[in-house]
Amino acid sequence: MSELDICPADESPLPPVDYSSPDDVKRAVEQARKAQRAWAEQSIGERAERLLAVAQRILEGQDEICRILEQETGRSPTESRMTEIATTADYVKGVIRAGMKALAPERIKLSALDFPGKKVVVEVVPRGVIGIIAPWNYPVSNFYKSVWPALLAGNGVVLKPSEHTPRSGAWLAAQLAAELQDGLVGLVQGEGDVGQALIDSGIDSIVFTGSVPTGRRVALAAAQRLIPSSLELGGKDAAIVLADCDMPRTVAGVLQWSMHNAGQNCAAIERVYVEEAIADGFVDKLGKAAQRLKVAPQDGPSDLGPLQNAAQLAIVEAQVTDAKEKGARVVSGGERTGRGFGYQPTVLDGCGDEMRVVREETFGPVVAVVRVKDAEEALRRANDSPYGLNGSVWTRNIERGEALARRLEVGVALVNNHSFTGILPETPWTGVKDTGPGIAASRHAYTHLVRPRTLLVDRSKKPDPFWFPANADLEQMSLALVERNKGSFMALFKLAGLLGKRVKAIRQRIADS
Ligand code: NAD
Repeated sequence: MSELDICPADESPLPPVDYSSPDDVKRAVEQARKAQRAWAEQSIGERAERLLAVAQRILEGQDEICRILEQETGRSPTESRMTEIATTADYVKGVIRAGMKALAPERIKLSALDFPGKKVVVEVVPRGVIGIIAPWNYPVSNFYKSVWPALLAGNGVVLKPSEHTPRSGAWLAAQLAAELQDGLVGLVQGEGDVGQALIDSGIDSIVFTGSVPTGRRVALAAAQRLIPSSLELGGKDAAIVLADCDMPRTVAGVLQWSMHNAGQNCAAIERVYVEEAIADGFVDKLGKAAQRLKVAPQDGPSDLGPLQNAAQLAIVEAQVTDAKEKGARVVSGGERTGRGFGYQPTVLDGCGDEMRVVREETFGPVVAVVRVKDAEEALRRANDSPYGLNGSVWTRNIERGEALARRLEVGVALVNNHSFTGILPETPWTGVKDTGPGIAASRHAYTHLVRPRTLLVDRSKKPDPFWFPANADLEQMSLALVERNKGSFMALFKLAGLLGKRVKAIRQRIADS
């Protein structure tokens, strides 16, 4: 049995999944390409309707997918339903609203004097077949940010779920395939070599979500093929807690977004910079709140699941051990739960920059508290990171919070909340530095899914006045153009006279030839 085919809640075996061969990958891309042509010919409204039908299908299949997600992630069905399924139709409706703006053709106004009889439109056309490679932390909804806009724009897609969560990805692909035309949505299964084969298989663009090291490999492979890549990579989010915060709500919010999905969230709060003046109270309350959280499996809903895999558990344990050795105090947790890959919700106090838990992505239910003198120190240390996905400031002074949040080096800056904009289809999900240049969701997310096409139609019966031959009038015209560009009103009259002469000369040349 492969170590990938294990339920993380109790380490029971899961049925293995067949991996795709290089030929399977090629075939999936070819089929998607064939189906894509007819799909692109449908109107955006027709495509939107089909996508809404898929969303309904996903909602109707909630019990089935929550069971599969429970097997693959160890999370309770309630957690999976809340996180990945319950608002799917709302999400698709938001994608459609954003897509209508992003995909609308744009009429460009041209000067009738300079460009008589011409109409130019910038149209948005699908790139063709988009490869989508996903990680395991949200096995279904990780695809949402790219699969819906890619299809809405008229592309075919080939999905590659993580090798850790292949069954959930296959379920999503099946729901899409059931409502859409044959072959439009392809599925390939396997590890990194299959992801690499997908990039090499003739796709027109790649959307990658995953770790920084793999992201670099994907960027290189895409560059070799000269196709666009969208890279949504790791995070090490910071929260800045100021002395004037609403303490109970801040404790609850920081707990939520550090422990949600057992911290396996690219935008989990992993570092908290708290002003010394309130640090004792904050740490005490956060620790007690963390102790009350229930890790799956439980009778009834649990607050969080286990780590998804043994390798991730090992990373979390190593970082906590390193922090303890360097002087961090374990306020709560710090141990395995004893069931499957479960790890206790862990709060560490007295953390410093020399600790791995402050510098490296943890991706587990661990939050490192760093005590600071004031907001300026908090900001400086929060920004001292190779990552930059979300960042938040917690304060009652909203104006000051906004000003500080704008100085965070992140793609999503928040005041008194964190992370949750990931479920909003109309706001960009993006980062800076090693988090990668990808932009997911919103009307800004389309550059790697579509390309602009300039369409110019010329209804003028006359030749353009700058065509051959070059003569003295052309020289005068060029000088008049310069004057007009400098702002001379008189040059306009001169130009109007010259244009007529030029057109006459060009017609004469055409007649003579
Ligand atoms: P990973 O990089 O190990 O794997 C991600 C995917 O890439 C998997 O499907 C894997 O099979 C595939 N892959 C591996 N090697 C490949 C190669 N050479 N070419 C093509 N594909 C290849 O990441 P992971 O451990 O699955 O996911 C966790 C990471 O994802 C964390 O760093 C997390 O922060 C990040 N993440 C980021 C976002 C975001 O929006 N920024 C969202 C979710 C997760």
